[in-house]
Amino acid sequence: MDPLLQKLNAAQREAVLHVDGPLLILAGPGSGKTRVVTHRIAHLLKQGVHASQILALTFTNKAAQEMRRRVEQLAPGERVWVSTFHRFGARLLRERADLVGLGQNFTIYDTSDSRQTLKRVIEAEKIPTMHYTADRIAAGISSAKNKLITADEYQPRSSSPLSSVVARAYPAYQERLLASSAVDFDDLLLHVAKLLKDNPEVRAELDSRFRYVLVDEYQDTNRAQYVILRALSLDYPNLAATGDPDQSIYGWRGADLNNILDFEKDYGQAKVIRLEQNYRSTKAILRAADMLIGHNQRRKKKALFTENDEGAPIRLVTYADQDAEASAIAQQIRAAIDSGERKASDFAVFYRINALSRSVERALRAHRVPFQMVRGQEFYQRKEIKDVLAYCQLINNPKDDVAFVRTVNSPTRGIGKKTLDALNDHAYRYGTPLLDAAREAGLIEGLAKRSATKLSQFVALVEKLASRAAGPVEEVIGSVITESGYRQRLVDSDDEEDASRLANIEELLTDARQFDEESEGEFEGGAGLEEYLERTWLVNETDNWEDDSDKVTLMTLHAAKGLEFPVVYLVAVEDGILPHERSSMDTQQLEEERRLAFVGITRAEQQLQLSLVRRRDFRGQRRMAVPSSFLMEMPTAEMDTDHGGQTFEIDPWEQFELPPEEEVWTDPNAAEPEESKPSISAAITTAAELSGEAAPKPSHPPQPHTRFSPDDFSLDMTVRHPEYGLGKIKSLSGAGKRRAATVEFALAGERRIVLAHSPLEPV
Ligand code: ATP
Ligand code: MG
Repeated sequence: MDPLLQKLNAAQREAVLHVDGPLLILAGPGSGKTRVVTHRIAHLLKQGVHASQILALTFTNKAAQEMRRRVEQLAPGERVWVSTFHRFGARLLRERADLVGLGQNFTIYDTSDSRQTLKRVIEAEKIPTMHYTADRIAAGISSAKNKLITADEYQPRSSSPLSSVVARAYPAYQERLLASSAVDFDDLLLHVAKLLKDNPEVRAELDSRFRYVLVDEYQDTNRAQYVILRALSLDYPNLAATGDPDQSIYGWRGADLNNILDFEKDYGQAKVIRLEQNYRSTKAILRAADMLIGHNQRRKKKALFTENDEGAPIRLVTYADQDAEASAIAQQIRAAIDSGERKASDFAVFYRINALSRSVERALRAHRVPFQMVRGQEFYQRKEIKDVLAYCQLINNPKDDVAFVRTVNSPTRGIGKKTLDALNDHAYRYGTPLLDAAREAGLIEGLAKRSATKLSQFVALVEKLASRAAGPVEEVIGSVITESGYRQRLVDSDDEEDASRLANIEELLTDARQFDEESEGEFEGGAGLEEYLERTWLVNETDNWEDDSDKVTLMTLHAAKGLEFPVVYLVAVEDGILPHERSSMDTQQLEEERRLAFVGITRAEQQLQLSLVRRRDFRGQRRMAVPSSFLMEMPTAEMDTDHGGQTFEIDPWEQFELPPEEEVWTDPNAAEPEESKPSISAAITTAAELSGEAAPKPSHPPQPHTRFSPDDFSLDMTVRHPEYGLGKIKSLSGAGKRRAATVEFALAGERRIVLAHSPLEPV
């Protein structure tokens, strides 16, 4: 047999051998979807399909890189275009930038740059924001863009006051981006989708160029991505989509589950292949995952089995607090490494939100366990790095106003707010970029001669730097930091922080040198700088994850998608965290949280531990943690449970003083703006508002003073107790003040509770 097909089961082989026509591979986790994509590419190449006719798309740089590596192994020497949607969009857009009114050298603004642009627009246009924050307005714009609603098409809804603010801000913001020859992340898809829609010849040409399009994780595509894929597979409908609707976890970024659920409708002749054998996990793990996801209504049922062993039971552990949780995990890992049973890289610790990682980090450090945190690429977000890169942006795209504002007085050149305001007014009045306005500084009304001179000197600096832009990126950055005086200012400073900033800038030079070496001979005439910038703009959370180093991996559930580890710890399986408190009022969001838990559980190959605590200190607040409702949906009876010898008899309200309501349940994401995406809260709330639905209100923990009356309870009702968690009422007895319920709690077992005095509440 062809060695390419040897390590595939019959269904996988069928998918790999499929050449022409639409193909949908619908399958659960660990069933070899990603393996099929890489093998299929190799098979297409073997069939004589030219590498340039194949396009493979996925969602993270890491996944793309991994796929490229696998294809390279299977078909050495072939260079297939494997990319993320955003990088693909950026590349395509550079080829046809003129069609959407952009310069070919456009800048991609990250979240903070686009937010700054939005704020400037709101200010300049005096748009009444009705107290909505820029983040909320931005989320509204983003949501519209993901649905392919352009600024011209956007219609406010009478039921949504926010939408009327968005209706004013969106066109002005978009105009400003175009004037700066800049795009935000959503534009990369929106512009491409529009371009393909409005230019039939271009569409036909690209459709023919990319004869075979393969998409992994198709369940996470949004409307814009759907339209792009559709446009590229009309004349040559060889689109192969691989996905699992149960792993769709980007609803808050506009992912539309219908894209996968309706595939067969949209692509009439689609061949559908289901992969049912899981190669990743033990039977015990798969069973729990399957039971949990079975509670989602909006799904297609899938059969999934494994020939793997039953494996160890899942561990379900309650710790006293998060420090106990973290140090127990660290100890277990340490012991397994010391005994030679496992290596550090066998382990992963997952959490719902980044803020939960701190105690785990601390404990691992204390136990000298090597680990890596997978987070947004904070390096490129540092102030000094952004400052230096902003010079490069301005050289690359002189219309880039955000870069201008960032660099003009950094290091300080005595160009103050008054000067900038005058410049800004002038630029706005004449519709010119700030750099051009600065060229005319001498003519600007109300600008002191001294200020005008300083601006002219800055323009001269930028021109000088621009004249060297065609060299290797390391040299470009080298001259930026020298000529601008940025390095000297840091060298001269006594501030310790500045010393570390200096080190970071040296690191940037190293980064640039590596880029130059990797891409030697590939670029001519300055395209290298643009390519380098693009790499810094389109970073993903998982970019810095080293899968080949022997370290424990710490990451969010979102980042874990597609990956697998022998041992997985999922911490804080608590109500309000997983599921996230914001989902409590909305079934769709709750289902997405359940999918997220499902993704986490199905990453585990051999061992899985779910843990929760009784008290959690969170964002400066202490709260009693309630077990996650998802635990009730899993086979906890067969799990290896350990509640740390604790009984659930203590009156929770005795133990700590209750802060005012709002302070107890702070927004878990509030202090943590997402680096490169709209915040979850903003996106979700706004999406709901825009679609005319009631905005979900944050849920609150049961408060001891909000007692329900005994009449509120009935047999078989699901109830929640602040200490015991969720349970079902098995029987009721007594009357009036003595009326009591016997409740079977998922974790705490059976309890008799006198209703009149209990904080029990119906769910
Ligand atoms: P997810 O939905 O989590 O992304 P997936 O369906 O993409 O999962 P893969 O990551 O492709 O699954 O495969 C899961 C694991 O099973 C991998 O370690 C892969 O190498 C292995 N595997 C897949 N198919 C086979 C097979 N036919 N024989 C042996 N191992 C296999
Ligand atoms: Mg996969």
